[in-house]
Amino acid sequence: MKPTLKVQLRQTRKALREFCNDIEAAGIENLRSDWPDLLVTYEHAKHAMGEKHESEIIRQSYPEEKCPDCNAEPIPRWIIEGDGCQNCGHVFCVPRKND
Ligand SMILES: [Zn+2]
Repeated sequence: MKPTLKVQLRQTRKALREFCNDIEAAGIENLRSDWPDLLVTYEHAKHAMGEKHESEIIRQSYPEEKCPDCNAEPIPRWIIEGDGCQNCGHVFCVPRKND
């Protein structure tokens, strides 16, 4: 018997969640050099769930998605917390609620 739409939606959400958890367990820092295409799929999966991934949250927390110190290069797409600016060494981090 074909599952109902509601069941399909629940199964799809579950699969997306599992996929995202697996990607996060593997780590953006490990995947960005070897599997950048997989991270694009991960980004699509996060958006499908109405969420943003860490790199996106970091980038969008800075004005014009640029380094606040040197305002030079745009922040790389797959930035992770603790990465330094290529130009001036500014360390990027995830915005905290209590900042
Ligand atoms: Zn900089």
